[in-house]
Amino acid sequence: MRTGQEKAFHLPKECPVCGVKLAKNSEDVIWRCPNIKCKARQRRYFYYFVSRPAFNIEGLGPQIINQLSDGGLISDPADLFSLAKIDLLNLERFAEKSADNLIKAIQNKKQISLSRFIYALGIGGVGDETARDLASRFLSLENLEKSSLEYLINVQDIGPKTAENIYSFFRGKENIMFLRKLFKNGVEIEKPSQIKGKVGKLFGKTFVLTGTLETMAREIAKEKIRQQGGDISESVSQQTDYLVAGDNPGSKYDKAKQLGVKLLTEQDFLAMIE
Ligand SMILES: [Zn+2]
Repeated sequence: MRTGQEKAFHLPKECPVCGVKLAKNSEDVIWRCPNIKCKARQRRYFYYFVSRPAFNIEGLGPQIINQLSDGGLISDPADLFSLAKIDLLNLERFAEKSADNLIKAIQNKKQISLSRFIYALGIGGVGDETARDLASRFLSLENLEKSSLEYLINVQDIGPKTAENIYSFFRGKENIMFLRKLFKNGVEIEKPSQIKGKVGKLFGKTFVLTGTLETMAREIAKEKIRQQGGDISESVSQQTDYLVAGDNPGSKYDKAKQLGVKLLTEQDFLAMIE
């Protein structure tokens, strides 16, 4: 069907909005603008943040977001929560009543479930299904925030790439500041009601294993810890709660002792996971 008149398609090399060179990582098929200050990216994130599966703020569509942003009233989504009626009255299209309604709609959504909140962060690979899985697994933002990469990778249904995205999100300075700003402006994550009973008894505890265990392979021991919600780390640090010491423990044992980490014999450990 070709006529010979077709023109080759050239993918742009730079972002059409901010002009920064586009980038693509090896696993990805999509070229993206890597500039987090890019206007286009920021707008997109705004739309995403207020969308139905995220903060679900009614009456706050792209047009109004653009207007607020162009008017210099909001520079990131956290600014939405500190908007006042008087700010809006200075804008075109806003009258007493519509300004009132929008402020109310925003303020009504300050309390948010953990899963929606996680989704709203816009972490690569974390759709609403994954956000829900993470919320029921971690139960609080702090737990998710402090999770080791290794633990995240081992969470069912979370691929290594997504695990890495989550881990590095919480280590990004700008992201941490954004989270702080959200809370400062009154955003509150609801406490899950069904919190007790579902959590393993080792939840939030970090274990390091060293030496040879007599009664079970190390991988099995790790699996048991994870099944009960515990976390495993390869090296001893201030964050370690327990060191399980089998036969011939090495330098990890000395370090744990030095740091005052609780030392468990194999017997202690077996009693704990029973
Ligand atoms: Zn850009």
